[in-house]
Amino acid sequence: METKLVSLDRENIDMTVMEEAAELLRAGELVAFPTETVYGLGGDGLDAAAAQRIYAAKGRPSDNPLIVHIADTDAFSVLAREVPEEAYLLAKRFWPGPLTMILKKSGRVPAATTGGLETVAIRMPSDEIALSLIRTSGIFIAAPSANASGRPSPTKAEHVYEDLQGKIPMILDGGAVTIGLESTIVDLSGEVPLILRPGYITPEMLREILPNVAYDPAILKKTADPTLVAKAPGMKYRHYAPKGNLRIYEGSLDAVVAKIREEAAKKVAEGYSVAILASEETKGYYPEFVVRSVGTRAQEETVAANLFDTLREFDHMGARFIFGECFSREGIGHAIMNRLLKAAGYQMETV
Ligand code: AMP
Ligand code: MG
Repeated sequence: METKLVSLDRENIDMTVMEEAAELLRAGELVAFPTETVYGLGGDGLDAAAAQRIYAAKGRPSDNPLIVHIADTDAFSVLAREVPEEAYLLAKRFWPGPLTMILKKSGRVPAATTGGLETVAIRMPSDEIALSLIRTSGIFIAAPSANASGRPSPTKAEHVYEDLQGKIPMILDGGAVTIGLESTIVDLSGEVPLILRPGYITPEMLREILPNVAYDPAILKKTADPTLVAKAPGMKYRHYAPKGNLRIYEGSLDAVVAKIREEAAKKVAEGYSVAILASEETKGYYPEFVVRSVGTRAQEETVAANLFDTLREFDHMGARFIFGECFSREGIGHAIMNRLLKAAGYQMETV
């Protein structure tokens, strides 16, 4: 199948293109589109066959559920069986935006969309192209990230094309996304609200409405423990990984730089292709190595925005070993470290 890559201007959306994309979705086909977090691979969330197509295109295990994207909270009553008061309060405060809520699913949502779970993940994105696609198609759009399973999530349309060309009919190109990390996922289906995936919306922000919100124990663990993953099947799969072997170093910045220089020199001496993931503040400390700054520590939103693109760049340069600095665990730093550790297969050393 030929994949059509079409640019759209967010400020002035070409409705002919939008209608074409909407028609594909209504026909059960897939369309990749930008959201403020990462690009999504969309299909009809109420159509089991469309969900199967999503899994097939991504090469994703079919027990790893999809997020259903909506443009109006009226959708709650169609998609969910029980809607707690908190869901409306969170929607009012954070939607449209990078927060996904897990609720008990209604009978309308096929098991294929939820990976066989009795719960459904719902989000209202803020990106104008995403909202227009949902409204124009009149469809609840099931969409996981539009990358091949296991690869870094796509933050540009080129990333989607790289992974899915020939497998889907259309990609809407809205340029680079603004946030760059996937949505925060909060599970409201149990007794205590739990964060299943850290993102731009932090626990501190959620506490205004969910005073007792806590991280799911599985995301605080340093290793992937298959016994802790029943709730969020996505947690058990290798994720975001570059092709090279990525290792992260944690500690004072001086010690981290010294250790990375030492390890990188060893691998270069052994003849390997080596790259270093650093920051604006530290990139100058590795003059003899191949180094990429992922953003500035003074504003870690820049690190979030560039992280996945930088991981893909290491693939393009054929880096065999990648040595990475750690980031803060404050605010968005927690989400950055969560993705970085997964990408590293939890290879982290404290120095
Ligand atoms: P992605 O954004 O591509 O990582 O895919 C959607 C993510 O949402 C996956 O990591 C899923 O595990 C998670 N998710 C979707 N639905 C549910 C659900 N019902 N319960 C828990 N996690 C979910
Ligand atoms: Mg994903």
